[in-house]
Amino acid sequence: IYILALESSCDETAAAVNKNGLKVLANVVSSQVDLHKKFGGVVPEIASRKHLELLLPVIDQALAEAGIDFEDLDAVASTSGPGLVGGLLVTLTAAKTISLALNIPLIGVNHIAGHIYANFIANPEIKKPLLCLTISGGHTDLLYFEDLRGYKILGRTVDDAAGEAFDKISRFLGLGYPGGPAIEKAARAGNEMAVDFPRADLGDSYNFSFSGLKTAVMNYVNNEEQRGNELKINDLAASFQKAVVDSLTANLLQAVEKYDVESVVLSGGVAANQRLRSYIEEKLEEHNLKLYYPPLELCTDNAAMIGAVAYYQYLERDFAPLSISADPSLKL
Ligand code: ATP
Ligand code: FE
Ligand code: MG
Repeated sequence: IYILALESSCDETAAAVNKNGLKVLANVVSSQVDLHKKFGGVVPEIASRKHLELLLPVIDQALAEAGIDFEDLDAVASTSGPGLVGGLLVTLTAAKTISLALNIPLIGVNHIAGHIYANFIANPEIKKPLLCLTISGGHTDLLYFEDLRGYKILGRTVDDAAGEAFDKISRFLGLGYPGGPAIEKAARAGNEMAVDFPRADLGDSYNFSFSGLKTAVMNYVNNEEQRGNELKINDLAASFQKAVVDSLTANLLQAVEKYDVESVVLSGGVAANQRLRSYIEEKLEEHNLKLYYPPLELCTDNAAMIGAVAYYQYLERDFAPLSISADPSLKL
């Protein structure tokens, strides 16, 4: 089964060809990061116009790399949400057109399910049930996952997403966009014990909160500047990063103790963070659990992860009507 999958819910224009779900024949991603850098974040209007420009070449390249033609496709899939509506509409409209023209099924995929399935592409041996921490620019969700129909959202952020916190603090510290890699790089040369920033504790719930931490960093910096003290950016980055890592890990471990799972997986752009990975790995050792995460190119937005989910929906004949619309706040 050959599926062409399309993704442009944020600032990546992506097309992939998957064979039988987890075999990725092509995974083309055209990032707009440089385009949005000067604005310090994604500008939705610019993003959707750029998606429109890039999508057809990206699709052509994916088919060429996979060595197949449109006629070989069994289905076409697009992210249907969540994300920026202008971007979602670009791939969804393209997918509808391809579905209609080739008379093949259209599959609407949840972007967050995609981030989870990126793990199965990289590590098909992952055993379920599992706990998944989806941490990206727009999401911070802790999920208990048995299969596409049987999952439970245990907790999510009540304010900023983890990646959003990285991006905002990075911009505030003058480290640039995207924030995660910039903070991680600066943190490598810093002392993470330098400043004891607060870790939000939302009691028994598995929810997360990062806005208090954000305010604490800003207050700290403003105070230091008022006192005329020189800022130690590396120490600040490291201390902030460790506070985020601690908050994420605390809830995950709380869930590990409560739920009987076979594995723990990370997904979303923040899963690229090495400090987070190594700290969680260290903590999971005590529970004899292995941590899985996708390689970098599957951690951040891509279409191969959308194609993987689409295959399982294909098997269940979970097709979308041509009237399907983009849902910017689609829930799993
Ligand atoms: P969503 O998937 O929720 O729609 P998104 O598409 O913006 O949001 P991703 O592309 O999955 O999210 O990830 C981007 C986010 O990951 C950014 O906030 C970025 O700062 C963060 N990120 C990337 N690399 C790292 C890193 N090494 N450490 C921490 N954060 C990182
Ligand atoms: Fe994403
Ligand atoms: Mg992105």
